[in-house]
Amino acid sequence: MSLLFPAPEPVLAPTSDGHLFPVRRLFCIGRNYAAHAREMGMDPDREAPFYFTKWAEAVVPSGTTICYPPLTSNLHYEAELVVAIGRGGRNIDPAQALSHVYGYATGLDMTRRDLQFEARDKGRPWDTGKNFEQAAPLGLIHPASETGHPTAGSIRLTVNGEVRQDGDLAEMIWPVADIIAYVSQAYRLEPGDLIYTGTPAGVGPVTPEDEIVVSIAGLSDTRITIGPRAES
Ligand code: MN
Repeated sequence: MSLLFPAPEPVLAPTSDGHLFPVRRLFCIGRNYAAHAREMGMDPDREAPFYFTKWAEAVVPSGTTICYPPLTSNLHYEAELVVAIGRGGRNIDPAQALSHVYGYATGLDMTRRDLQFEARDKGRPWDTGKNFEQAAPLGLIHPASETGHPTAGSIRLTVNGEVRQDGDLAEMIWPVADIIAYVSQAYRLEPGDLIYTGTPAGVGPVTPEDEIVVSIAGLSDTRITIGPRAES
C-alpha cells in the first residue's frame, strides 16, 4: 500500500542539550494568574482549572518570523511557562506528577483576541481565537534534570525592548503538578505532550515588525518577530 500523499512531518522541538523532542499535543491552561484573570474580566477565585488545545503544528521555534494571521485585527501575545511531558499516564497523582515531566521551556500562546472574545461571549468554542498556524512559539526545552522543577522566578515579556508582562511563576493559581493531574483525568497524557501553563497580567496587541521576547529565570528565551499579514 502506498501513501496517497506525503504524511506530515513530525514536529520536533530542540532541547538545550542537543536532542529533539517530538511534539504530540498541546494543552493550554486558561486564566492561571489572578491578575490576568481580572484583566480578562473574570473572577479568579471562582474557577476550577480549564484548558483548550492547539495542534502540534502550531509550534514554531524561537527565532521565527511568524505571519500576522488572517481574520484578526487584535493579535495578542501571552508569555507562558511550557511543561514538556516525557512519561505518559492517566489519573496521575499530584504527588507523582512531576516525575512525568521531561523538561521546561518558555513559550507564547498567541491569540486572536477579537475572535476569542467573540466566541467566549457567544458561548462558542475558542478554536479560531487560539489555534492557528504558528500560534505556539516555543523556546529550547531544558531537561528538568538540569533545571529542577521551577515553582518561582521571573516570567517577563518585552515588545521591542519594552516590558509588557512582568510576573512570577509563584503567582500561578494551579501549580504544574496539579495541572498535570487535572489534564490526565480527561486524557491519557503521552510523551511529547506540551502544557502551556497560562500567562501573567499585561497581555496586549502586536503589529507587523514587532519583536517579542519571553524570558523565564533559568530557561532560554523565546524570541519572535511579527511578519506581514498572511496571504488569504
Ligand atoms: Mn494562555
